[in-house]
Amino acid sequence: ERGRLTRLLHTPAVTMDGQKIELLANIEMPEDALGAVLAGAVGVGLFRSEFLFMGRNGRLPNEEEQYLAYRRAVEGMQGLPVTIRTVDVGADKPLDESQQDNAHLNPALGLRAIRWSLADPAMFLTQLRAILRAAAHGPVNLLIPMLVHAGEIRHTMAMIDRARVELDNRGIAYGPVKIGAMIEVPAAALIVKVFLKYFDFLSIGTNDLIQYTLAIDRTDESVAHLYDPLHPAVLRLVAQTIAECRAQGKPVSLCGEMAGDVSLTRLLLGMGLRSFSMHPAQILAVKQEVLRADAGKLTAWAQQVMADDEPGLRMTRH
Ligand code: PEP
Ligand code: MG
Repeated sequence: ERGRLTRLLHTPAVTMDGQKIELLANIEMPEDALGAVLAGAVGVGLFRSEFLFMGRNGRLPNEEEQYLAYRRAVEGMQGLPVTIRTVDVGADKPLDESQQDNAHLNPALGLRAIRWSLADPAMFLTQLRAILRAAAHGPVNLLIPMLVHAGEIRHTMAMIDRARVELDNRGIAYGPVKIGAMIEVPAAALIVKVFLKYFDFLSIGTNDLIQYTLAIDRTDESVAHLYDPLHPAVLRLVAQTIAECRAQGKPVSLCGEMAGDVSLTRLLLGMGLRSFSMHPAQILAVKQEVLRADAGKLTAWAQQVMADDEPGLRMTRH
């Protein structure tokens, strides 16, 4: 099967009815960029920068180390866009043992991702400067995780402006970036209109969106059977986010595990999704689904699936 799929490497991802689909890679380290290109990705849709921060016994990477790492990823993609997400540590990705001390607290609901960044301005500005500098070497999108409040959005934007001013004052070169937000908390999905006032693009993080919508800890094996990407509430939040972005002509991608699940490709196409970001190993299998799909015909079917009490039942029959 892998051998057959390899033939699709240079085939453009276009549906039978001519819809162009963007298939992007999720990466964890700069070295993964080459693998992403070889796997057929047309860009990096999610560079999880926290992997540069983890397992260092609390010593965080400085601006130069980060700049070189982001630059390596950008250069590795050879002119294709790289979406760099600012650190998302705290929950399933503790920095080190010290972050696991508060075992009585729930890290998924705590000082995680952008909350952690805004709580440590020097650390956040260091990362923002490093990303802006890497953008001088190729197309970079800056992606912010776990935003919930308009106030957090404004605070984040002010920090990005400040990082630019600091680089200007130091006479250091940097490039332009498009700025996007993850939609991965139900509250964010319900106020997409607010996000669209501020951001150039959105990326739907279904791994967390499912966890927070269904109240299922994504790391707890004992409730893993209840972690359901096809719960109608999850589907509605995903579909609404896509629809609102499309209505305003704003790019929207999906970068959770759902994007690389071939059994969900047709449903997501039917919801209007045109950009998928996934583990590079999934790209050709998803492309095969795209090539076989008639996106226009999937729209009505997707509406029916979403209206079901248990969409998972119809999906297994389909
Ligand atoms: C997500 O939440 O869907 C996502 C892509 O981010 P992460 O899995 O890194 O939390
Ligand atoms: Mg997430």
